[in-house]
Amino acid sequence: MLGGHYSVSYMAKKVDPTIKLWHLFLAAQWLDLVWSPLILLDIEKADTKHPLPASPIHLTYMPYSHGLVAALLWSVFALFAYRLTTRQSYASGALVATTVFSHWVLDLIVHNHDLPLLGNRFKVGFGVYHSIFWSFAIEATLLLIGLVLYMRSSWPVGSFGSRYGMPLVIAALLLFNANSIWGPSPPNEKFVAVFNLVYYIGFAVIIARVERGRIPYKRGAFPHERVTDANM
Ligand SMILES: [Zn+2]
Repeated sequence: MLGGHYSVSYMAKKVDPTIKLWHLFLAAQWLDLVWSPLILLDIEKADTKHPLPASPIHLTYMPYSHGLVAALLWSVFALFAYRLTTRQSYASGALVATTVFSHWVLDLIVHNHDLPLLGNRFKVGFGVYHSIFWSFAIEATLLLIGLVLYMRSSWPVGSFGSRYGMPLVIAALLLFNANSIWGPSPPNEKFVAVFNLVYYIGFAVIIARVERGRIPYKRGAFPHERVTDANM
């Protein structure tokens, strides 16, 4: 799963508007942000010779980034790293940790028996990647839910960028998803690792810029009573 992971970032932002959305964007893709350097260092393994209909990459060995135990440990790491670096509450940290772990849960739905439960053994994955239609439909639906949640719970404070920045981001994410299914095959797994790093960091930077143009509503408040906490 690619852009669909960000739907959890939008949900977490709705629950706790004090967390920056770009932090939640990095959290939702943290396991893949770990995966890329491990692939470049040949510690984890993948290839592009045996793609699935809706995924250009075949994941063969990734216990440190996508094992169940690793995902839980990375989530705990995220809780403390977030709390230490931002001084936000443990509740906010727990939400960031949950966003990190959500990556594994959503991957479980689409991946094909490549997520190890223990070490590199007992691999699971429900294999939605075998269906192009369902793979795209699920991710597009998740992204659109995220967009609606965000647009309904924040208010624009500028002109074009603050009103249309987020819909444009979602449109770009959908295009990247379409490209990963219908676009040209990547030459090798290291290309995918670098591409993904640029994608994840690039969208976090863009989101940091876009969210500066919007401020969250107070729960149940009218637009003119919007939250103005400088933290947001
Ligand atoms: Zn992943």
